[in-house]
Amino acid sequence: MPKQIAIYGKGGIGKSSTASNVAAACADEGYRVTIIGCDPKSDSSITLLQGRRIPTIMDLMREGIDIKEADIVFNGYKGVKCIEIGGPEPGIGCAGRGIIVAISLLKKISRAIEDTDLVIYDVPGDIVCGGFVAPVKKGLVNEAYVLTSGEYMPLYAANNICKGLSRLEMTLNGVICNSRGALNEEKIVSEFAKEVGSQLLAFIPKDVLVQTCERDGYSVIEKAPDSQIAAVYRKLAKSIMGKRDGKIPVPLDDSRLRELTRI
Ligand code: SF4
Repeated sequence: MPKQIAIYGKGGIGKSSTASNVAAACADEGYRVTIIGCDPKSDSSITLLQGRRIPTIMDLMREGIDIKEADIVFNGYKGVKCIEIGGPEPGIGCAGRGIIVAISLLKKISRAIEDTDLVIYDVPGDIVCGGFVAPVKKGLVNEAYVLTSGEYMPLYAANNICKGLSRLEMTLNGVICNSRGALNEEKIVSEFAKEVGSQLLAFIPKDVLVQTCERDGYSVIEKAPDSQIAAVYRKLAKSIMGKRDGKIPVPLDDSRLRELTRI
């Protein structure tokens, strides 16, 4: 069975950059990788496809066309299979439900989820509603990771995600810090990870190279393979591929969370 992971975290915290760089780093190591973007922005795979935007399953479903594998599964960097699910139209429908419907269709017409070593779900926002946990509930995800910075709001979201995961009795396999340059950031996130019963898997420093490469349509793994930041993503990819165990997280109460951000 492939490793099926989801990366959760507050919107805008860098989930897509992390997901695509981890995907590229794993592909470099010879793994077969599939990335499934579940965000309405559909930008999870864009940096694996040299800046090309691919059609989303939900858009094609809405158009009512007879969807074939070639319409929705695209080969990206080193054979990474790129799929974008898309999102609901504002005010209509549920993203969670849409994800399930789109994945059932995908499974019918393609073996991209089965014939692979790693599936990465790049999931939208934080897990505050029932809809967004649909992939976990349906058993599409067997490992969850949380991405945060050391600031209060992303940590608050990360803690909410832990609440959601513990309610679902789903394990948390690691916390990743995507630095925003907050004071004592590594210490704060590492302490947070420890207190919820997990561990800090990587500290990704703020590096303008990530945005520069993204603007050109590439991951740093592809465009700047010898950079320091590429090495950080490679190390993270290795940790994820080597990870087997996880623990059901124990969320913190709000006062402890606030205290943490002041250390
Ligand atoms: S349940 Fe969640 S995913 Fe579904 S419509 Fe509401 S907010 Fe969106």
